[in-house]
Amino acid sequence: MTLPQIALFALAVGMLIGVGMSLLVAWAYRARARVVEETSNVVPDGVADVLASMDDTACVVDASGLVLAASKSAARFGISVGSPLENPELRQLIRSVRASGASATESLRITRGGLSLDPRLVSARASAISPRMSLLIVRDVTEQERLDQMRRDFVANTSHELKTPVGAVTLLAEAIESAADDPAQVRIFAARISAEASRLGQLTGRIMSLSRLQAEDALSDVRPVAIDEVIAASIEGHVVQADSAGVELARGGDRGVWVHGDPQILIEAFGNLIANAIVYSPKGSRVGVGVRADGDVVEIAVSDQGIGIAESDRERIFERFYRADEARSRRTGGTGLGLSIVKHATQRHGGEVRLWSRPGRGSTFTIRLPRIDPPVRDDDKKSKKKRERKAARAAASARARNGDRA
Ligand code: ADP
Repeated sequence: MTLPQIALFALAVGMLIGVGMSLLVAWAYRARARVVEETSNVVPDGVADVLASMDDTACVVDASGLVLAASKSAARFGISVGSPLENPELRQLIRSVRASGASATESLRITRGGLSLDPRLVSARASAISPRMSLLIVRDVTEQERLDQMRRDFVANTSHELKTPVGAVTLLAEAIESAADDPAQVRIFAARISAEASRLGQLTGRIMSLSRLQAEDALSDVRPVAIDEVIAASIEGHVVQADSAGVELARGGDRGVWVHGDPQILIEAFGNLIANAIVYSPKGSRVGVGVRADGDVVEIAVSDQGIGIAESDRERIFERFYRADEARSRRTGGTGLGLSIVKHATQRHGGEVRLWSRPGRGSTFTIRLPRIDPPVRDDDKKSKKKRERKAARAAASARARNGDRA
C-alpha cells in the first residue's frame, strides 16, 4: 500500500471507530434513560411521596430486585434507588411474596449496607403491590428488643430474689410448728422469720423505688432543696448502722448549696451510698460525705476506706441485681438494687454519678447535680421591702428639704 492509501485506510478506520463509539454512548444513554423513565413511570402515583414521608426504611422493588423508589432512611441499610437490593434475606422475602401474591413479615438480623456495623434486628414486611412490584418495609426493632430483654431479665431476677426469703419464711414457719413444745427454738425461728420478713420488705421497697424512678412522672415533689438538709437527713438515717459497724461518719465541705429536686429521692440516693460505704468498710474506718460547689454544679462525694471495687466491676455495679461481692452483699442484707436507684435518681435530676475506687484502699462515689441559687426567703423579702420603703421615705424627705432650700 502506498502512503496516501495507508492514510486513507487509517482515516476510514478512525471514522468507523468514532461512529461506533458515538453509537455506543448514545445507546448507553438511551438505556439509562429507559431505566429512569421506567422507574418514574411504573411506580404508582403518590408512592414516592408516601415513601419520602416515612420514618421507617421502605422501598419499592421490581421483579429483578432493582430498587425503584425508597424512603430517606433506606440508605441506612444500603438501599438506594437504581441499585439492586443486596441483602439476600430481604431478596428471599420479596421472592416469596411475589410467588404467593400475599404479604409476609419476618424478623431478621441484618447488617447495614455491608458496613462493618453491628447487625440490626429488624421486622421486615413485604407485600406485592402489582405483578411486577413489591413494597418492602423494614423496621429497626433492635432498641425495642433490648428494652424488652431488660424487662424480661428484671422480672426473672426479681422472682429469683423474692424466692429466697419467701422459701425461708415457709421453712421457718414449718420449723416453728414442729418445735411448738420448745419455746427457746420457737424464739430462734421467730427471730429468723422476722429477719427474712424485713429483708423481703427492703427488697420490695427497693423494687418499688426503682420502678417509680423509671416512670414518666418520676419526680413528684420537685422544689428548691437545701443540700445541707438532704445530707443531714441521709446521715441521720444511718447513725445507728455506722455505730454498730464501728464506722465513723463525718460531714465536710461547702454549706448553703441548693439544687432543684425531690428531697425524698435525693435522701434515698445519698442514703444508699452511705449505707454501702458503711457495709463495705472495716471497723474503725471513716466514711466521709463532702460537698463542693463548683460553678453551676454541686458535687456530693461519699468516700470510704473500705474493700474497694475491682476495675472489671466498676461499670456493672450500677446494673440491677449486680453484686461485685455476692456473698458479702447477701450476708449484709444487700439487694443489689441500691446503686441502680442512685444512678436513676441522679439522672432524673439531670446529674451523673462518678466512681473512683482502688481495691483495698476504698471508694468514692460522687453525685454531680445542677446547682441553683438559694431561694429568697419570705422574711428576706419582707425586710427587703421594708428597706426599700425606708429608702423611698428618706429620698422623699431629702427632696422636700432641698426644695425648701431652693
Ligand atoms: P447491694 O445491696 O448488694 O450493696 P448495690 O447496688 O448497692 O447493691 O451495690 C452493688 C454492688 O457494688 C455491691 O454488691 C458491692 O459489691 C459493690 N459496692 C457498692 N458500694 C460499694 C462500696 N462502697 N465499696 C465496695 N463495694 C461496693
